[in-house]
Amino acid sequence: MARVVITGGAGFLGSHLCDALIARGDEVVAIDNLITGSVDNIAHLFGNDQFTYVNHDVSEYIWVPGDVDIVMHFASPASPIDYLEKPIQTLKVGSLGTHNSLGLATAKGAKFMIASTSEVYGDPQVHPQTEEYWGHVNPVGPRGVYDEAKRFSEAMTMAYHRYHNVPVRIVRIFNTYGPRMRARDGRVVSNFIVQALRGEPITIYGDGSQTRSFCYVEDEVRGFLALLDSEQIGPINIGNPGEFTISELAELVLEVLNIESEVVYQNLPVDDPAQRKPDITKARELLGWEPKVQLREGLQRTAEYFQSLGIENL
Ligand code: UDP
Repeated sequence: MARVVITGGAGFLGSHLCDALIARGDEVVAIDNLITGSVDNIAHLFGNDQFTYVNHDVSEYIWVPGDVDIVMHFASPASPIDYLEKPIQTLKVGSLGTHNSLGLATAKGAKFMIASTSEVYGDPQVHPQTEEYWGHVNPVGPRGVYDEAKRFSEAMTMAYHRYHNVPVRIVRIFNTYGPRMRARDGRVVSNFIVQALRGEPITIYGDGSQTRSFCYVEDEVRGFLALLDSEQIGPINIGNPGEFTISELAELVLEVLNIESEVVYQNLPVDDPAQRKPDITKARELLGWEPKVQLREGLQRTAEYFQSLGIENL
């Protein structure tokens, strides 16, 4: 049993991680400043003596009393809309937040895991993306605030590993979806489901030919734990290699929900990657991990979650 600090513990991925660790008997200290996270995601854990929540901005110095075995840095705005609205906070949490989290891990003699991203590959010229690919990122474009912060966070993590001998794990997370995504966070799966449920037009950016690979949150979190418990440093891609165009996703959402909606085409965001698909050979061979939930099934479960909130609240 371990005592685990999770930054971003009230976020979409962070809160699912809290649940998975608590279910296996670990103790969790979740830190979040709630700029994109929500207490609703962790409210069910209040009163559980394996769980503590601390409201704190991890871009500022972090201190946690007592022993800590593992620090997992999962705090960051993660939707393009959020990091375009909060560019400086995004850069700070990826840089200063990583530095502070690594400082905590070093002081406590803890293992450290960083939530990195497929965005380190930018608009990739290699397809599918292997961990060896160095990426194609525009540092001065609007997405650069997220991409470069995460690239810096990987470099900082490796520096602490090499210089301070901190045991580290780097996971590169590809598009993930599921319950607890914010209805209005702007990401494509939540947008399409919420638009369909509300009878609004489906907004496809560009011509819909760009591709993404969508991993259900339960699979994704199982991948995080597989890496955490392994001897691998990474970086390791954790994502679902099933690749879909955004037009195909729109069709599938409408089919799964059995709803007919108008589709409207809007401008493609600047530097929007044309294609993305993880090569998960390493995850399969080194961690024995692969995703299990098909997109259709995952979309159904995600739609049920949004429906359970009440369509008027979306
Ligand atoms: N997208 C879209 N309509 C939306 C939201 C997103 O067509 O309402 C597109 C977006 O331009 C991108 C893809 O869907 O090509 C995935 O966007 P998302 O924001 O979910 O994540 P990204 O992979 O771009 O970080």
